[in-house]
Amino acid sequence: MSFFHPSRSRLDRWYHTGEVDEGLEQHVEACVKCSDEIERIAVDQVDVTSALTAVLEPEPGLEARMGSRIGEALLAKQDLQLMWQVLSSGVNTAKILLDQPHPDTGR
Ligand SMILES: [Zn+2]
Repeated sequence: MSFFHPSRSRLDRWYHTGEVDEGLEQHVEACVKCSDEIERIAVDQVDVTSALTAVLEPEPGLEARMGSRIGEALLAKQDLQLMWQVLSSGVNTAKILLDQPHPDTGR
């Protein structure tokens, strides 16, 4: 058995990829610290999997709620664009009025 403990990332890779690593396997079989670490990696994996499943499974009615949210967002964006057009046309009108040449100096 190797004297050095393998790194957490090496244990993690071995656990997740299933790649053959004889030195590591022999070490893990004989080393309580590293077999505990493998157990922790396995538990973390279960936590991540169940958390992902909970997140990825849509709640009932989610699709309808998403649809109405997206609709509201699109309407709000249209309102903003309309408001921007109104405001910018006001600014353009003011510029045209202010840029008129002075009647006496012609500038
Ligand atoms: Zn070890």
